[in-house]
Amino acid sequence: MFDVVAMGELLIDFTPAGVSGAGQQLFEQNPGGGPANLLTAVSKLGKKGAFLGMVGQDQFGTFLRKVLRENGVDDRGLKQTTSAPTTLAFVHLDPLGDRSFSFYRKPGADLMIRAEDLDDEIIKNGKIFHFSSLSLTDEPARSATRKAVQFAKEHGLLISFDPNYRPLLWNHIAAAREQIRSVLPYVDIIKVSEEELELITDTADLEKGSAMICEQGIDVVFVTLGPAGCFYRYPPGTGRVDGFTVPTIDTTGAGDAFLGGVLYWLSEMPLDQIRALDRDKFEQIIRFANAVGALTTTKKGGIPALPGLEEVRQLIL
Ligand code: ATP
Repeated sequence: MFDVVAMGELLIDFTPAGVSGAGQQLFEQNPGGGPANLLTAVSKLGKKGAFLGMVGQDQFGTFLRKVLRENGVDDRGLKQTTSAPTTLAFVHLDPLGDRSFSFYRKPGADLMIRAEDLDDEIIKNGKIFHFSSLSLTDEPARSATRKAVQFAKEHGLLISFDPNYRPLLWNHIAAAREQIRSVLPYVDIIKVSEEELELITDTADLEKGSAMICEQGIDVVFVTLGPAGCFYRYPPGTGRVDGFTVPTIDTTGAGDAFLGGVLYWLSEMPLDQIRALDRDKFEQIIRFANAVGALTTTKKGGIPALPGLEEVRQLIL
């Protein structure tokens, strides 16, 4: 049984790594991709995760498979293709550690996954199915993702969604909005940034926007607020949980780590129990997730920066 099955992009993040002797910017090869980051977060904390996605039949793809395995993530659902190279992203950091991206993705192997590449048995064996909007940008990944979400829902998995909106990957903002909104009726748990909340609901008001999202049938909404922590809405009400003050150097993967921290706990419970969780318990879970997110910002890269359970416990003591 898998606590979390996640589908989507697994790619190379090239992160800035100083300057060469000749004065040129250097980049370091880091494994990345939201769903893969999230699964690794869950796995490093001690739960079982399985990945569904596609990389190239190339050295990067082989490297990424090895990373999943080394981090205890089940890689039987990771396919390799010769029809496109492994997807690449370059991360640019500003002095505060905030990121912008350049993507090398058309073609990129993560978009080549087709519905027939999915292993139904892996999905059936999951408790939570997680995905993002990166695999909704283009076909055939879009149809494959929709099929997987529907299949997971039919088989009783909780559905977790992080839009992970990247403007550069969409031809037009309207297309992103349409695709993201269209999957919401399947979703039980969503994590959005403030920008994504506004994209989906046309309001930046946390109370109003999160209520609009819940009208789609979603039970649990997290709006992550960077170092300020998180705003939440679930059936008993709304609230905020402060973040941790840490020496941040790179925010890559913080959102995925946060949601990994949440799913670590929610994979223990059926939806009815989550809906009725008392406020203290729910906020403890978010505090734990804030710690997972915060610790991830103290090291470079996504996957390599994710903390283990002991590190998280020490921060929240
Ligand atoms: P992403 O951009 O990775 O998709 P996101 O925008 O949702 O994700 P953030 O809000 O930046 O993610 O971060 C997620 C969580 O990580 C926050 O809610 C917070 O708990 C923690 N976090 C992020 N940045 C910091 C920081 N600088 N200091 C402390 N905690 C942080």
